[in-house]
Amino acid sequence: MRGLLLGLGLWGLGWPGGTGAVRAGEPAVSPAATVQVDVLSRHRPRELRLAGVGGARLQLELGAGDGRAEALTSGPLRVRCDGSGPLALVARGLSRQGAELLVRPAAGTDGVQVGGRGFSSRRYPGALRVRARAGLCQVVAEVPLERYVAAVACQELGPAPGGAEALRAQAIAVRTYTLTRERMHRAEGADFCDLTHCQVYPGEGACTPEAREALGAVAGLVLLDGERPAEVAYFSTCGGHTARAGEVWGSRSERPWLGGVPDGPAERPDCRASPHGPWRLRVPRSELCAHLRGLHPALGPGECSLSAVEPGQGGWVRRVVVEAQGRWELTGDEFRLLMGRRYGWSAFKSGRWSASERGGSVEFRGLGLGHGVGLCQHGALGMARAGADHRAILQRYFPGLRLGRLP
Ligand SMILES: [Zn+2]
Ligand SMILES: [Zn+2]
Repeated sequence: MRGLLLGLGLWGLGWPGGTGAVRAGEPAVSPAATVQVDVLSRHRPRELRLAGVGGARLQLELGAGDGRAEALTSGPLRVRCDGSGPLALVARGLSRQGAELLVRPAAGTDGVQVGGRGFSSRRYPGALRVRARAGLCQVVAEVPLERYVAAVACQELGPAPGGAEALRAQAIAVRTYTLTRERMHRAEGADFCDLTHCQVYPGEGACTPEAREALGAVAGLVLLDGERPAEVAYFSTCGGHTARAGEVWGSRSERPWLGGVPDGPAERPDCRASPHGPWRLRVPRSELCAHLRGLHPALGPGECSLSAVEPGQGGWVRRVVVEAQGRWELTGDEFRLLMGRRYGWSAFKSGRWSASERGGSVEFRGLGLGHGVGLCQHGALGMARAGADHRAILQRYFPGLRLGRLP
């Protein structure tokens, strides 16, 4: 099946190893290129319905797994991945089996519509690769970089009235992030997944015509550190001050432009209209201890306590020490992630919190939503509505970087 795959692969470039959220160096993706996205990665359906948008026919290549591929064209078709063997292709007048399917929209058409049980139908602009894995369909979409950036930015900021300049700033941040982000999905044959783990990619249709027009003005622009795209990040709501990358992700992520900034005046931060203001979560101490012990058995049995919580820039937690018989030291972001996974991202919402003891429970009180590093989306919206343009927005959250295009 190799030949069929190689036709798609401009890649393989990516960054070797490492788990840092931000990476230094040359762009991993040429700006003119496409990205490979492992889509439907939360759903992994057993069966797919594929159709050309507007009834257009699809160009198919069905690989047998031995390097040979059969070229076909078809109207709507069903792909089953749950047989005992390789995937099965069924369409009117067509019934085949193969190891891997490459689906391309016919030239000049609007992409491939993908439907199935358990998820809303979505549309992808370019070729799709479908493989059966353990009875489930794995789908990798080849997406032109600019289409990917627009869809992610529109998904993140939505059609926000008065928010065109914030959307532009968001798109520049998304493009820059995409170009520098470590590829973490090579095992799936992709650069990114379509979830928050990488960036949420909903496929086509996320942008309104107004949003597409707003984005046209900043196509191709990235944030540069010297001549290179800079490592950047974004999140929902800071609650008044963003976090310092080195305090959230460790000193290797320290960057001069990610040092944490006030999000407007302290008494009137620009993200004050965000729905993610103060939050509170109360957890029985015994339950919290059991959860932490489950993740770190060396804590040992019995009572535990959060013996130290060190706030960093803007109150974003830098370090947490949990003590029982043993001791566990975590970064603020590690603690946020393990609490979010256990109690939900809408319950333990941010890395900006403090804790107190209340009658056998630990009460967490926090502000904002997300990891706190980089662009505060609701702050950007607030700034845009107050008349700031995308340059002013980016200058606040990434001071010292310049806007430019890659060659
Ligand atoms: Zn991912
Ligand atoms: Zn903010």
